[in-house]
Amino acid sequence: MAVNPDVIVVGAGVIGCSVAYYLTKQGAKVTLLERESIGSGASAHATGSLSLLGAEFSPGPSFNFALAAHREFPGLVRDLEEETGMDLLFQQRPSLRLALDEEEEATIKGLMAWQEEHVAMRWIDAAEVMRIEPRLTNKVRGAVYEEQSAQLDSYRLTLALGQAAEKRGAQLQLRPVTDLITSGSRIIGVRTAAGEIACDTVILAAGVWSTAFSETLGYQIPVQALKGERLMLRFPGEPLPVLISSPKRGHMISRLDGMLSVGSTGGRDYDQQDLFLGDEFDRQPTESARTELLQRAIDVLPALEDAELVQQLAGSRPLSPDTFPIIGPMTGWEGVILATGHGTKGVHLGPVTGRTLAEYVMAGCVQVPELLEAFSPARFSAESDPDFYAAGQRAEE
Ligand SMILES: Cc1cc2nc3c(=O)[nH]c(=O)nc-3n(C[C@H](O)[C@H](O)[C@H](O)COP(=O)(O)OP(=O)(O)OC[C@H]3O[C@@H](n4cnc5c(N)ncnc54)[C@H](O)[C@@H]3O)c2cc1C
Repeated sequence: MAVNPDVIVVGAGVIGCSVAYYLTKQGAKVTLLERESIGSGASAHATGSLSLLGAEFSPGPSFNFALAAHREFPGLVRDLEEETGMDLLFQQRPSLRLALDEEEEATIKGLMAWQEEHVAMRWIDAAEVMRIEPRLTNKVRGAVYEEQSAQLDSYRLTLALGQAAEKRGAQLQLRPVTDLITSGSRIIGVRTAAGEIACDTVILAAGVWSTAFSETLGYQIPVQALKGERLMLRFPGEPLPVLISSPKRGHMISRLDGMLSVGSTGGRDYDQQDLFLGDEFDRQPTESARTELLQRAIDVLPALEDAELVQQLAGSRPLSPDTFPIIGPMTGWEGVILATGHGTKGVHLGPVTGRTLAEYVMAGCVQVPELLEAFSPARFSAESDPDFYAAGQRAEE
């Protein structure tokens, strides 16, 4: 059993920082390697919505993982804020998932059929919706109301996880990993732009860029970029009292810093046409996304005609062929673990990914924790031509 394993984590997004945080908490010697800066990939651009209501999670392992992830946050946020002095802008509030047309109502009620077994929720009619938020459009047909949603600032979360890991001894080095160094079927280190570093275990958490290691591993790591954009608006009037979303029109969240976040593009888009399956590395804000997002937002809350655009963010989410994350040891290799493919839910699933992988590594990489069994990279080994377009259509926001 490895008592003090030497672990290299590649990529300091929310996944890599979560892994480093939980590993150092358990006493591992960790080096976190990042080619740019903490959170500079998708993680700095995310909404930070922590909701169990979307279509992303399905009954069984996916929902169990999401639920465990959700429960992780209150304690984690408290610990991180204490340890780093940062305010993660964490809020727990009721949410409304709105139906503005018949199709949205059918989607929401279809999901409720199994979700209400796990999460307290109820369908409310348009009159009740308007009592909660009278500024919403009168096109609202009804909504599902639930009280367990939350949201935080995803960049601050990522930074806090990284800083807390560093405080416990993790070495953060800003340099790209250019290759893995292997001996037979074992990993023995990584090559970076500034030299080689030895390790027992490497955890690849490089988001959409994890594919760079496919050739060395002889396995096409099945992730592709699903570009997403969102807007930060300032608008006159009181903050929204609840977190708002709808299947076709995305989210609308009053953040604790006073900004209104609206978005996101990618996944099942408003017009159901364009999936924004992006380039390898694309965080360029586009005019088409800006126009679409503003239109969606005004459709839901007409008062946003007067809103001021403060910031437009864009990032590339790592999408897997079945939209579920890819977490666990690589078949045929000793000491190589993948942690990517979290798609539209990486912030929500980041900490639980870190905690469960840390447990696995600290127990000597013998038994994959039950929560992770369904997410093994091995499920794609036979798949030669993954359909990312179809996966993008299933992803929500
Ligand atoms: C607009 C938008 C809204 C979103 N909203 C939500 C939301 O509300 N809730 C939610 O749960 N998720 C949301 N997401 C998804 C979430 O952001 C991602 O799932 C998550 O950030 C993925 O994290 P990651 O650590 O895998 O990847 P990344 O954050 O992309 O991190 C990968 C890191 O690896 C580094 N790297 C790459 N190659 C190398 C290398 N060779 N060597 C060293 N470092 C390397 C990169 O620089 C990067 O920092 C959203 C995403 C977007 C774009």
